[in-house]
Amino acid sequence: MAVPVPVRGALTYAVPDGLEGSSEPGARAVVPVGRRLVTGIIVSDGEGATIEPKRLRDTTDLPDDAPLLPPDILSLASWAARYYVAPVGAMFAATIPPGVSRRSEVMVLRQPGAAVNGGPGGLLDRIPEEGVSLRDLGVSRSALRSLERSGAIRLEPVLRGARVKPKYETILRAAAASPGSVEPPARATRQKEILALVRSAGSGGIRSSEIEDRLGPSWAAIKALIGRKLLVAARIEVERRPSIACPSGSAAPPEPTPHQRAAIDPLAAVLDRRDYAAFLLKGVTGSGKTEVYLRAIERCLETGRNALYLVPEIALTALLARNLRARLGDGLAILHSSLGPGERFDEWRRARQGKARIVLGARSAVLAPVENLGLVVVDEEQDASFKQEEDPRYNARDLALVRAKEASACVVLGSATPSVESYQAALSGRLSLLTLPHRIFDRPLARVTMIDMRERFERTGREELISAPLQEAVRDRLARGEQAIILLNRRGYAPVSICRSCGATDQCRRCSVSLTYHRSEDRMLCHYCGYRRGKPERCGTCGSEKVVLTGAGTERLEERIRASFPEARLARLDRDTARGRLAASDILARFERGETNLLVGTQMVAKGHDFPGVTIVGVLSADALLSVPEFRSSERTFQLLTQVAGRSGRGAAEGEVMVQAYHVDHYAMTAAAKQDYEAFFEKEIRFRRVMKYPPFVALANIIVHAASPEAGVRRVHKVFEVVKERAGPSMAVLGPSVAPLARLKGRYRYQILVKSASRRKLSDALNEAVEALSEGGLASPRDLVIDVDPVSLS
Ligand code: ADP
Ligand code: ZN
Ligand code: ZN
Repeated sequence: MAVPVPVRGALTYAVPDGLEGSSEPGARAVVPVGRRLVTGIIVSDGEGATIEPKRLRDTTDLPDDAPLLPPDILSLASWAARYYVAPVGAMFAATIPPGVSRRSEVMVLRQPGAAVNGGPGGLLDRIPEEGVSLRDLGVSRSALRSLERSGAIRLEPVLRGARVKPKYETILRAAAASPGSVEPPARATRQKEILALVRSAGSGGIRSSEIEDRLGPSWAAIKALIGRKLLVAARIEVERRPSIACPSGSAAPPEPTPHQRAAIDPLAAVLDRRDYAAFLLKGVTGSGKTEVYLRAIERCLETGRNALYLVPEIALTALLARNLRARLGDGLAILHSSLGPGERFDEWRRARQGKARIVLGARSAVLAPVENLGLVVVDEEQDASFKQEEDPRYNARDLALVRAKEASACVVLGSATPSVESYQAALSGRLSLLTLPHRIFDRPLARVTMIDMRERFERTGREELISAPLQEAVRDRLARGEQAIILLNRRGYAPVSICRSCGATDQCRRCSVSLTYHRSEDRMLCHYCGYRRGKPERCGTCGSEKVVLTGAGTERLEERIRASFPEARLARLDRDTARGRLAASDILARFERGETNLLVGTQMVAKGHDFPGVTIVGVLSADALLSVPEFRSSERTFQLLTQVAGRSGRGAAEGEVMVQAYHVDHYAMTAAAKQDYEAFFEKEIRFRRVMKYPPFVALANIIVHAASPEAGVRRVHKVFEVVKERAGPSMAVLGPSVAPLARLKGRYRYQILVKSASRRKLSDALNEAVEALSEGGLASPRDLVIDVDPVSLS
C-alpha cells in the first residue's frame, strides 16, 4: 500500500474475509495508520512482505469496484518511486487528483452510563449526545486523555466524505403522450411555463437548474408535472469544465513550410508504425514548433491513439488550450494545479474514461491516465518547472520518455535552447534530432546588443537601473506604436536591506537568506518560507538607524518606468501580480490585444508567448544568475536570455534586444548575444566533462535536515557512512558539508553529493542506503531529502 503519510516505503495490510471491493493493484484502500484512517493505493499483492500475517492490521474499506489507476500509470509510478528514491506514498498521491481520497476524522463520543461530572473545564458538557468531531470541539487530543481514561468518553476514527465527488444534476424531459397524463389546469401558470420550456428543449431535455435560472424557484411545480406524468426526471452527471474562450471564426491551419514538413514527416512515419521513438525538435524561437506538434497530434489521433501535451507554464496552457480546442475540437482535457478541485477531478476522469483524447497540462499531467497513448509532446523541455522540487521529486520530461517507451509511443521534446542533457543525447543518437533553423517567413532573429554596465558606470558615475540607450530604444519603439518587454528576474521592491553602520543585512528568522522589501504590502518578506515582518526602523545587530533598502526588483522597476515613461500603458507580470487564478493569462492576453504596450516582469515574461507587436526587449541584471554557485547557472543564463530575446521581432517589424550586464564576456553572455546555441553548448559541455557533472555522471543530492546544528552534524555523518558503504568504490560520495542554503524554515541543512557513472547503480545504492537508514530511524522524508537528477543543488 502506498499511503500518503510521511514514511518512505509501502505499508502492508491484510484484507479481511468478506470485505467487498477491488483489492487489485491500482485500487484504493482505506487503512488505519496509528489512530487515523487514510486512503492509499494498493501497489502490489504484498507477496514477499516480511511482516508475520498475524501482526498485520486489517484493511478497513475497499472503495473501488475496479482499480482507479490504470496499469501503465501504476507501473510508471512504481518505477519512478524506485528511480527517484522517492517516498512511495507521495509518489502515488501524485497520480490521482487531489481531494479524491477520503480522510479520517476523530469523533469524540460519550460513553453511555458514564458519570457526568464536567471533566476539566467542563469539557464533557460540551460533547453532545451524538458526539462531535475533535476538530469541531477545538481541543487537543491530550486534553481529552483523562476523560478517555476514566471511561467517560471514547475516541473513534471515522471517514469523512471525499472533498471532491462527481457532480449530479436533474434533467427534465417531456414525457411521451400517454393515457395517464393530465394537462395542468389553466390557473397553474408556472406549470404551463415550465412545460412549454421543457417541450421546446426537445429530446435532450433541460437541466432543472436552467429552469430555475429562467423562471425562478420551480421545484414544487416540477414535482407536480412529474406527478401528472408530463415530465420525466433523470439524474445525470454534469462535467465541470475549465472555461476556454474560443477564438471566433477559427482560421484554417497554415500550410507547413518545407522545414516544418521535414520535421513532421518522420514523426508521422513513426506514429504510423506505432513504435517507440524519441525526438528532439530544436527550432529557433519563432520557427513554428507548435505547428509541428499540432500536426503530429492530428496524425496520432488519426491512427486511433491518444496524445499527451506537456507545457511548462500554467499561463501558457490557457492560451494554448484555446488554439488546440479551435483546431482539434472538444476531445481535450486540461490538467494543472490552478484548476478548481472539481474541475480537475472531472478532467482527470474524462481522460481516464477515454472521453478526452488529448490531455494538455503542466508537469503533473505526465501521470495523467491517458489510455492508448501514441504521442507525448514536451514543449520547452529544458524548463526547470518540469522538475518537481518537493516530494516526490521527479522530472516530467524524463518520465515522459520512460512512459512513451513503455507505451510504444512517439515522444517529441521541443526547445530553442535544449537542455545540455538532451542535446548531448541527440548528438549521441539516443534522441533523433529534428531542426527548424529559421524563423517563419525567414524573419531575422532579433539583433542583440550588450550594454556593459561597468563601462556605463565609468562614463556616468552612477548606477543606472535602466541605462540611457535602453530607455531611448524603448521610447522610440513605443512612439512607433510597437510593444516592449523588460525583464528583471527578481520580484519585490528591494532585495536587500543593509545597515550602513555595521553592514548587517536583514535576514529571515528561519532561513539563511535576506528578506525582500515588498512595497505593495509594506513588509519584509522571505521568498523561501513566507515569513514576513515590518520594515526595520533600526539595525537588528547594532541598533543604528542608517538602514537602507538596496537593489531593485520588479516593483521598483515598475515605479521607475512609470516615472520615465508616463505615456506607456504598463503592465507588470510576476508571481505577486499573478496571484489570482487566471491573472497571469489575463495580463498576457491584455498585452496580446495591445491594451498594454510595455510589459515588465520576471522570467514569466520570457516564456513561449507569440506577440508579433514586440520589437524591443530589455534585460536588466542579465548576469545575476551567473553568480549563483550552481553547475547549471551558465546554462540557465543562456536559456533565459535566448528565450526572452526570442520574444522580440516575431512580427513584420525587425526586433531588437538590449542586455545589461557586468560580465559581458562570459561565454553564456557572448553566445546569447549571437543567439548561437552551438557555441554555448561547445563551451558548456567541456566544463561538464572536466568537472564531472551531468550528462557525464548521474548525480544525486542528499540533504539532511535537523532542528539543531549538533543533531544535523551527527545525523549527516551517519547518513554519509551508510551511503558511502552502499555506493562502493565506483561512485564518488562528496561531503558532508553545510548546504548552500544552510537554514530553511528553521531547520539546519547538510549536504552529500553522489556521482555515479551508472544511473541504475546510483538508484540501487540509494534505495539500499535508505532501507538501512530506515532501521535506524534516519530515513523519514522530513529529515532526509534525496534528489536524483537534481536541477538545483541549493
Ligand atoms: P516557436 O514555438 O517555434 O517559437 P511558434 O510555434 O510560436 O514558434 O510560431 C511562430 C509564429 O509562426 C506563430 O504566429 C505561428 O502561428 C506562425 N506559423 C507557424 N507555422 C506557420 C506556417 N507554416 N505558416 C505561417 N505561419 C506559421
Ligand atoms: Zn548595523
Ligand atoms: Zn524564511
